[in-house]
Amino acid sequence: MPEDRPITGYPVPAAPRIPVASPIIGARESELVQEALAAGQVSGGAFVRRFEEGFAERIGVRHAVATMNGTVALHLALAALDLKPGDEVLVPDLTFIATANAVRYCGATPVLVDVDPLTWCMDPEAARAAITPRTVGMVPVHLYGYPAQMRELAALAEEAHLWLVEDAAEALGTTYRGRHVGALGHPAIFSFYGNKTLTTGEGGMVTTDDDRFAERLRSLRAHGMRPERRYWHEIVGFNYRMTNLQAALGVAQLERLDDMLVAKRATAHRYLKGLEGVDGLTLPGEPPEGAHGWWMFSLLYDSVKARDRVALALYEQGIETRPFFVPLHELPPYAGAAPCPVSADLGRRGMSLPTGAGLTPREVDEVSEAVKAAL
Ligand SMILES: *Cc1c(COP(=O)(O)O)cnc(C)c1O
Repeated sequence: MPEDRPITGYPVPAAPRIPVASPIIGARESELVQEALAAGQVSGGAFVRRFEEGFAERIGVRHAVATMNGTVALHLALAALDLKPGDEVLVPDLTFIATANAVRYCGATPVLVDVDPLTWCMDPEAARAAITPRTVGMVPVHLYGYPAQMRELAALAEEAHLWLVEDAAEALGTTYRGRHVGALGHPAIFSFYGNKTLTTGEGGMVTTDDDRFAERLRSLRAHGMRPERRYWHEIVGFNYRMTNLQAALGVAQLERLDDMLVAKRATAHRYLKGLEGVDGLTLPGEPPEGAHGWWMFSLLYDSVKARDRVALALYEQGIETRPFFVPLHELPPYAGAAPCPVSADLGRRGMSLPTGAGLTPREVDEVSEAVKAAL
């Protein structure tokens, strides 16, 4: 463990005045959940298909398969790809732990790959260097809403005969070379956890353009039962279905998605103006070949000390911030992996500021001023 990691840890406010992320739940969400309840459709129901179809259309793919949460969406996608013990999968070292854990659920081995210092996403050259005869696929992550270097990664995947699954859990609203991520020709997963851009409480989605793969996902999602023959199971599947109540929330959230994305982008650009030129900060930017989804407005300080000083100062003012994910190779389940120096460095210096769609311009300015004052 790096010795400059703070011993006391990072302050976690119980009820922040300005949270990092908070969902926007309004009358429409209540109305549609009520409708699902009134229809008595609490498990399966019409909202699931409606949400799937609306989501697929919004992303620009043929199929969207809804799941209980984003983690099982990943597991489902990997299981549908027949990932098995002995296989290796390239996973970025700087991500939420679910990305690597889903590989473990299949009995396979996640191989941690360092990230690029500019995109903070899986470094294509490091990925190339990590390939072994056992490597079967890769799961790049669009970290905090910034698109991974998909052109290079997809070319590498094709060259090395690997499948590629996009972990787009944090990347609703993110585009890359004219398309929404998750529609770049590979299966992808999304998450609708309460702190994500669109929420269904818990929830997830797998997207794909491949009809047969979609069918396999649907089958595995529901115990591998053949739709036309009751209780006939040809494979060992899972129960990873999304409930109709979650989907009702999702349909309502989808209606306000574009407004939420506009609000988040405005917040990010207001931070960029407010913090421009401040010494000791490295600010994020829009990607050269797409649009940032701005799940989180995330920045870097010059040192862990500076970061933690700002975190504490903002905490004392009721402003929540989040440290970057702890690099996976520093966590007990993944200890012993090869070092990833870029990820280790970013993990210590990175912070996300409040980026919820409901944030007011005044709050954004208050946070910017608080960061400057603390520095
Ligand atoms: C949130 C998240 C997940 C998992 O989603 P859940 O819905 O919380 O299970 C997976 N990968 C990344 C990168 C995430 O941020």
